[in-house]
Amino acid sequence: MKREKELKTVAFMIGKYCRGVHKRKRGELCEECEELLSYAELRLSKCPFKDEKNFCSNCKIHCYQPEKRDMIKRVMRYSGPRMIFSHPILSIVHLIETKREKKKLDKEAK
Ligand SMILES: [Zn+2]
Repeated sequence: MKREKELKTVAFMIGKYCRGVHKRKRGELCEECEELLSYAELRLSKCPFKDEKNFCSNCKIHCYQPEKRDMIKRVMRYSGPRMIFSHPILSIVHLIETKREKKKLDKEAK
C-alpha cells in the first residue's frame, strides 16, 4: 500500500474519531486531532521504508512517540470497526493487506 493511501485512511479515521468523540463538525478537526494528523503525516513522509513500507501498525520501527501511539491506537479502535459501514471497501482492503503483510513478516522472521 502506498503512503498516500495510508495517509488518506489515517486522515479519514482521525476525522471520524474527532466527529464522534470530540463532537466536531464534518471537515473540522480539534487542535489535538489536527496535531495528531500532522504528526502522522510527518512520520509517514520520513518513513525509511518509503513506497515499499509496511503498514505503521505492522512496522518494526514503531517511530511514533508513546503518547502519540496511544492516541492513534485509540483512533483506530474507535474508527476501525465503524469504517466497515461507511467505507466498506477501504476498510476491507486495509484489513486484507494488513493481514497479508503480517503473514509475510511472520514468514520472514522464521
Ligand atoms: Zn478531536
